[in-house]
Formats: sequence, structure tokens, C-alpha cells
Amino acid sequence: MKPHRLTLTNHLVMNYGLAKYMDIYEPRLATEEEIREFHSDDYVEFLKKVTPKNFEEIQKQFTSFNIGDDCPIFDGIWDFCKIYSGASIEAARKLISGDSEICINWMGGLHHAKKYEPSGFCYVNDIVLAILQLLRVHPRVLYVDIDIHHGDGVQEAFYTTDRVMTVSFHKYNGDFFPGTGAIDELGSGLGKHFTVNVPLKDGIDDIEYTNLFKSVMTQVVGVFKPSSIVMQCGADSLGLDRLGVFNLSVKGHGECVKFMKKFKIPMLVVGGGGYTIRNVARCWTYETGIICGLELPNTLPKTIYKDFFYPDNKLHATLDSKLVNENSKRYLEAVRTNIAEQLRYLKGAPSIQMQEIPPDIQGFMDSETNADLDIASDADKDLSFDEGSAKPKLATLSEYYENDMDND
Ligand SMILES: [Zn+2]
Repeated sequence: MKPHRLTLTNHLVMNYGLAKYMDIYEPRLATEEEIREFHSDDYVEFLKKVTPKNFEEIQKQFTSFNIGDDCPIFDGIWDFCKIYSGASIEAARKLISGDSEICINWMGGLHHAKKYEPSGFCYVNDIVLAILQLLRVHPRVLYVDIDIHHGDGVQEAFYTTDRVMTVSFHKYNGDFFPGTGAIDELGSGLGKHFTVNVPLKDGIDDIEYTNLFKSVMTQVVGVFKPSSIVMQCGADSLGLDRLGVFNLSVKGHGECVKFMKKFKIPMLVVGGGGYTIRNVARCWTYETGIICGLELPNTLPKTIYKDFFYPDNKLHATLDSKLVNENSKRYLEAVRTNIAEQLRYLKGAPSIQMQEIPPDIQGFMDSETNADLDIASDADKDLSFDEGSAKPKLATLSEYYENDMDND
């Protein structure tokens, strides 16, 4: 989860000239009240107070939190949470207002965070907060997650409602983090059958993954008829990821984004996991291009970070791993059939009465038009690149860190 992933992505995006095709915003921080819309008061107090120095002492006061090795405490943790969550919340409001058709926050997507505790590098669940915003106006929100890990925090938050359908494609064997995401986790109460899990095994490749993805998502969109979509694009499902075990290429991963875009439903696209950072940057740059409706040249633009992409300097590097594909045709067909059966229970979309837009929304909209920001200056640091000319359009992009020169 090194923030340098975002710097690399930003430099590629800016030097491919993609800023011409988007509106770029520097979002305000999430407020404490907004974060409390999902997270418990106790946990928020903990996040506000904890530092690496007082960690042991503070933990005695908040013994209920599971702060393991995968949730390190660092200086500025509360500000970090407010930055990435503010971006997702603001992006949701841009969709609500109709200012944007698609918004991107590559810094967001922290899908494991729970109401009462952090989990798997995730502290505040910006996805849940964004969906809560969308639900103020949108009757049905579809959440789709292509990170290699199960989107457990988002699933849990909306497990009992029929207004949010969560669909997660992930590695599952009961042991792989976070351990949940079996095919028979379906939702409960009103939300029964509105949770979809697609458990996969090691080594799945582009063709099998995208075929299954398109088949499941066509059925889901057809039956649920979402009025907005949140898509989590964790890049740890790429081949050669340090923590991943799938075998997707950047093109295969991006094909899923391309497919969801075709539905022409307002969509928030967020990041997530991704631990081989040069490939995370390649992937999210390619997907920014897809969202802008462009096919980017394979040779990467010149940036001060060219050494990261040595020696091939290509957007589409070879990511073949030596992993054996353990997903037999029979297994994948069984998964597909099982999910098709589940979706038949829905028998048409649930009817949710449309509510009036809450009066406070417009006030937020007015305060969110600060479009000039430092992000563009990143491009100035790189060698010149011909950006061509085009009309500004869509998308919000976040990037905040640029001191970490670690190269892995
Ligand atoms: Zn992940």
C-alpha cells in the first residue's frame, strides 16, 4: 500500500496527456461526522489519538481493536484517512449532481475496514462512506470488486439491505486473507441474495476471468438494475503481484473496467490493493485511459521515474507468472451456474421509492469546485510530452505523496 504507487500513476497519467480529458479536483478532507456515518465513535476516537509513540498505551484503552501486523500505525494516520475518504465522498456527490459520469479516486478502495476496527491495511472504509452518500439519492447501488482479496468490509456493511448489491471476485480457499467470501455468503434478511461471491483459485488467466466476469455482471446488472456503480479495482489480481496469486494482465484487468463502463451508469472507480507498484501504476494508468475513452500507446511517456519501468518501458509488460491455473473448466462452470441460480431468486429489481434530494447536498456541491491544484505540477517535473488537444471531461484523481523512492 505504498503511497508511491499513486505518484507513479499520476506521473504516467499526466504525461500521457490524460488531464485534457478529465476535470481534476483537489478534494476537501472528510469530516469527522462523515466518517462517523459508518465507523463507531470509539474507533474514530482511537484513530484520532493514536501515534507510533503512544500506540501501546492507547491500545490498553481500546483493547477491542484488532490492530495486527497488517495495520501499521504511522504518523498522520487520521489525516491520511480523511484525505482518501474525502475524495470518495466528494466523488459520490459529483455523480449525484450529474457533474461527472465517472469519477476516479485511485487512493480510495480500502475495502477491508470494518465499523469497529481496521483490517488489511484499511482504516476507514471510504467505499462504504461513498455508497452511503449515493444512497441518499440513488435507489440501488451496485458494488463490484476485482481486488484479489474478498471485499469483506463492504459486504458486511450492506449484508442486510436490498439497496446495495455487492459482487466480489477473489481468491478463496477459506484461508487466504481475509478468509471470507465463500459462494454461499448470500446476504441475509432483506438483503438475502443481494450479496454475490465469486471464489476463484490460483493462477486464473485473462480469458477465463473476463468471461466469467462478463457473464456474472451481465446477469447482475440485468436483474438488479443499479442506478449507480462503485467499482473497486485492486491491482493485486495482476500476475506477478507480491501478494497475489492470479495471472491477469493489465489488459485483462482493464477489460473489466471497459465492460462496466459500457452500461453507461454513473460510476465511481476506486483503487485498492496492489503490491508490485510499477504494475499497479501501469494498470491504473491504462484504466484511466479506458475511462477517458482512449487507447494509450504502449511505450510509456518520459517521466522522472523511468527507472521503475526499465528495461521494457511499456504499458503492457509481460506479467506471466509460473503459477499453475487451478481453475478447471468444470469448476468455473459450477461457479457460474451457482450464481445464475442465486440471481433467479431476485425476480426483478426491488422497488425502492425515490426520495427527494436532501437539502444539504446542494451546499456541498457549491463548495467543491476548487479545480486548480498541485497535481498538474507533477507533470512539469517530467520531461516534456506532447499532450495534444482535446476537450476536458470526467474523472477525479487523487495523489498526495512523492517522497518514497522505494523501487519495488
Ligand atoms: Zn487486496
